Amino acid sequence: MFEKEYDVIVVGGGHAGAEAVAAAANMGSKSLLITMNLQTIGQMSCNPAMGGIAKGQIVREIDALGGYSGIVSDRSAIQFKMLNKSKGPAMWSPRSQNDRMRFAEEWRLLLEGTPNVDFYQEMVTGLLVKGDEVVGVRTSLGLDIRAKSVVLTNGTFLNGLIHIGEKQFGGGRAGEKAATGITEQLVDLGFDSGRMKTGTPPRVDGRSLDYSKMIPQPGDPDPEKFSYLDTPVLKQQRDCHMTHTSKVVHDILREGFDRSPMFNGRIKSIGPRYCPSIEDKINRFSEKDSHQIFVEPEGWNTVEVYVNGFSTSLPEDVQYKALKIVKGFENVKFFRPGYAIEYDYFPPTQLRHTLETKIIKNLYFAGQINGTTGYEEAASQGLIAGINAHLKINGQEPFTLKRDEAYIGVLIDDLITKGTEEPYRMFTSRAEYRTLLRQDNADLRLTPKGYAIGLASEERMRKMEEKERKSKDFVKFFKLTSYNPEDMNQILEEVDSAPVKQADKMFKVFSRPKVRMDHMLQLKEVSEYVKSNEINREVMEQAEIQVKYSGYIEKEKSNADKLQRLENIRIPDNFDYSKLKSLSYEAREKLNSIRPVTISQASRISGVSPSDISVLLVFLGR
Ligand SMILES: Cc1cc2nc3c(=O)[nH]c(=O)nc-3n(C[C@H](O)[C@H](O)[C@H](O)COP(=O)(O)OP(=O)(O)OC[C@H]3O[C@@H](n4cnc5c(N)ncnc54)[C@H](O)[C@@H]3O)c2cc1C
Repeated sequence: MFEKEYDVIVVGGGHAGAEAVAAAANMGSKSLLITMNLQTIGQMSCNPAMGGIAKGQIVREIDALGGYSGIVSDRSAIQFKMLNKSKGPAMWSPRSQNDRMRFAEEWRLLLEGTPNVDFYQEMVTGLLVKGDEVVGVRTSLGLDIRAKSVVLTNGTFLNGLIHIGEKQFGGGRAGEKAATGITEQLVDLGFDSGRMKTGTPPRVDGRSLDYSKMIPQPGDPDPEKFSYLDTPVLKQQRDCHMTHTSKVVHDILREGFDRSPMFNGRIKSIGPRYCPSIEDKINRFSEKDSHQIFVEPEGWNTVEVYVNGFSTSLPEDVQYKALKIVKGFENVKFFRPGYAIEYDYFPPTQLRHTLETKIIKNLYFAGQINGTTGYEEAASQGLIAGINAHLKINGQEPFTLKRDEAYIGVLIDDLITKGTEEPYRMFTSRAEYRTLLRQDNADLRLTPKGYAIGLASEERMRKMEEKERKSKDFVKFFKLTSYNPEDMNQILEEVDSAPVKQADKMFKVFSRPKVRMDHMLQLKEVSEYVKSNEINREVMEQAEIQVKYSGYIEKEKSNADKLQRLENIRIPDNFDYSKLKSLSYEAREKLNSIRPVTISQASRISGVSPSDISVLLVFLGR
């Protein structure tokens, strides 16, 4: 039924698994995607949306490297917004609302169109391990399938336990079985495991809602998209809506607290701090009488609606009674109640930067199994694991991204260096170089790297080069071309900026905060340049950012270069920290368990102080 030996087996067809198998196969590995249900490849377990703050940057990075999440998101989008547009470009974050069914369908189509991907539907219940190396997987039917490497992306399925009020039952997602066997085997092999929880809101019938009582939330009038390739831009969009909970809603919800698994001790594990359930919100922020609810359509052709902001595991009768009081929901009909789920994860400090496990060779973990939350976080880890699984079995150098190169680099470095005790999600504040890690330049940062390893296509690379060349030339044009003071003063008056007295280079005036590209385009020389050089929106945006922020960007680059020196001091693999008695006891313990690769990584481990780093530097210097 199967190849005698696959290069890569990916277990799980969620966001991590789909990216992992696509990357390995596109690089040339004979790959098998084995998942419990082929109908749910690329399934969005929770909200029908991709991107958002910091997450949107990750989707752009995945796309720039040659992954598929951006393409799938664009092809299934029903609404698009660039969040934080009023702030600096480091904060701009693309977000799409998606057709849930079409998203999964697009994933399946793309994977079916990818050479080297085989599919099989079954539950993997164990790994085939020889010595300290993985050699394949065993399925619930008792089939042994051999492979040179295995990527585990089990998501929320490992010993998943669903809670609704006082009821609890096994499941990986509503309506889907939990996965068993793998955790137990990994623990026997010496892995640490833990439990986490997450939750989801009810889904309701859009025909039962009164949208006239809610505030419309339209998409951007001139929507952008995620992929740097030629994916479609939305010509039509669907609105979301906003409404609010009230004190009465909160009082009704409180009536159910004694039957809540969150409060009666049934759920013991920690949930996502930044995606709290509604009961958590009214408990933690008891002074607030109202919380926002976003009413999000689940697709183009369905009446199903996602009630964002109302995640709950309260009994279904309480969910219903409370939601009926919310403005616009007076006649609400439920499609599915909200629920919480507890699942196993593996503390990610047990991984290398490639996401290979330290204990078992050629075994990789990616996605929610590593204690993260979110599609984007999962997909990016899948991509890195798939790439490295392929590279390692072909005897090639590992592929890792540094903290000043990508949010993906920050994510993985945080996970493997600091670990996480609560579901980890990405924020811009986690990145120390966010001026460098913008959504607009992910292609400039990463496409050459994706191309060098054979993942990003020729077309992608050429597009990136063209954008780079054109934007550099455009900036040069502003530096070399002088304006006519009369024309320029007309614009400056319009934006309420001090007039100029004589002709000078356009760059100078364009650098002023109030002067934007739209204004510069009013100058004949600029509009003619744009026309004759076929300058598109992306190039304009890039050139504008370079003109306005080059000072900040250069400063951050130089800071990153300084820290890079510590990144270059490597610590030998077998370094024995216990011999260095001048290290603090905590530092010795942490360094021995995490085994950082460089001094810089060592300095980011919590419990390793600057004086411990000095000790290490002195010793290694010797
Ligand atoms: C109820 C719920 C609420 C959530 N709420 C949020 C939220 O509020 N915010 C947020 O950012 N994220 C949320 N998430 C998390 C988000 O869905 C995940 O972060 C993301 O889907 C993880 O992707 P993944 O690829 O790691 O795993 P998943 O998307 O869970 O995919 C796992 C895949 O592995 C397969 N699989 C599992 N075990 C086996 C096995 N043994 N053999 C074969 N196949 C297997 C499954 O069938 C599935 O296809 C929620 C998830 C759930 C279930």
